Amino acid sequence: MISPNKREEPLVYELSRPGRRGIQFPDPDVPRTKLPSSLLREDLNLPEITQLDAVRHFQRLSQLNHSIDSGFYPLGSCTMKYNPRVNEDAARIPGFLYTHPLQDTNTVQGSLALMHELQEWLKEIGGFAGVSLQPAAGAHGELSGILMIRAYHLARGDKGRRKILIPDSAHGTNPASTTMSGLELIELPSDKRGNVDVKVLRSACSENVAGLMITNPNTLGLFEEHIEEVVDIVHDCGGLIYGDGANMNALTGIVRPGDLGFDVMHYNLHKTFSTPHGGGGPGSGPVGVSERLMDFLPDPLVTIIEDSDEDEPPLYGFKTPPKTIGRMKAFNGQFGTLVRAYAYIRAHGGDGLRGNAEHAVLNANYLLSKVRDAYHLPFERTCLHEFVIEGRWRDVPNVHALDISKRLMDYGFHPPTNYFPLIVKEALMIEPTETESRETLDAFADALLEIAAAAHNNPDELRTAPQTTPVGRIDEVRAARNLVLCCHTQYPSNPDPSADPES
Ligand SMILES: *Cc1c(COP(=O)(O)O)cnc(C)c1O
Repeated sequence: MISPNKREEPLVYELSRPGRRGIQFPDPDVPRTKLPSSLLREDLNLPEITQLDAVRHFQRLSQLNHSIDSGFYPLGSCTMKYNPRVNEDAARIPGFLYTHPLQDTNTVQGSLALMHELQEWLKEIGGFAGVSLQPAAGAHGELSGILMIRAYHLARGDKGRRKILIPDSAHGTNPASTTMSGLELIELPSDKRGNVDVKVLRSACSENVAGLMITNPNTLGLFEEHIEEVVDIVHDCGGLIYGDGANMNALTGIVRPGDLGFDVMHYNLHKTFSTPHGGGGPGSGPVGVSERLMDFLPDPLVTIIEDSDEDEPPLYGFKTPPKTIGRMKAFNGQFGTLVRAYAYIRAHGGDGLRGNAEHAVLNANYLLSKVRDAYHLPFERTCLHEFVIEGRWRDVPNVHALDISKRLMDYGFHPPTNYFPLIVKEALMIEPTETESRETLDAFADALLEIAAAAHNNPDELRTAPQTTPVGRIDEVRAARNLVLCCHTQYPSNPDPSADPES
């Protein structure tokens, strides 16, 4: 018996009926050709389904996903803010949408003007001398930046500088991109207030250090209290400063990393400047640099080739920086994301961007103030745009951060970032962003308070969560090790649960 509320959701293969078609092709009006048998597969068992059933199937699947458009998404470090729809309109203006990257520059002057203006704005926002829009994401910007730092030292004949210092609170992409660049990393511990330990930094600095990679505010949501001293220490020993700009949502319009002495930083346009992300892209990670790295920027930059008189727009083109690290990306970066960032910055203006950062910080502190008595805080400080709490209590050792996150799903919220940063045990990292209303923040705080109470009174309620979602707890390790990306008729019973996940 199928209950009207809880119908089993059929897989698309179960909807298949022999002979059903989504589209009727007319008979061919050209001679039929026999395809080589090597191109034909007997075992390609595709579902046979009508157009309407296929539309309903995928529409239903899309509704099973959590998204910013369907609910609060406080995934720390990811800045899941609302993406104004006007950005989408802008990215779909035919003149931008149908441009081909190999078109003659004379025919794409509008697109180049947009890119040039965005370069100039990002320079201004970050306090940098130059910006390249090439990198495809934050991690890609990191790689570009570290390669520039390496090229800078090598160009000066300073061949021994092979080490990059990285705080232990850093995002995983920081050590990964450093390693990919061929340099080695040295991990720096954090001090009792969540800052880089200045004493250890001082002793780690040497003529082997190429630079420091630092996130400010860091991934604990805390402003580096000694940032100017930190920059001086590294510069004094000949190293450069790489800034991970993923957290610019806390600083835009208030602090310019270039003014703090940062030599290179990436912007996550998809985070700070609002492009839909979370489904894996596309993002965009432009890099800004100080004067001394200008010549090493990725190739090409958009530039004004010929200035014009007052009434005419200038002529735009590309230029290659003299000591460039080379191309980081085919063509000209993620152009659609550049258009969205342009529209977003233009719509807000300088004051608007500053207001966003102020509200992001206010929202995070408002939320923190509502839950701080019910949860342990690793660092007793005012936060910036996000904060980290511990998802554990000494008197209920069986409850973990994961249980809290899973229970939040029953309340209709996306869980916070779990188990990161690594230096906080059972970390829950919460970033509300500036686009959420006070009512949403209150509802989320209430959920966290109820969950904290349940952890003590009824811990099973947490350990068995989520109870209201289409799937409960999945075996994440097996899902990662035994990834099944194709859907076929044996899907429900595959993979074989007894199979060795390592094999
Ligand atoms: C998101 C993030 C990155 C990486 O950016 P991607 O665009 O995902 O590659 C790096 N550092 C921090 C702190 C981040 O939050």
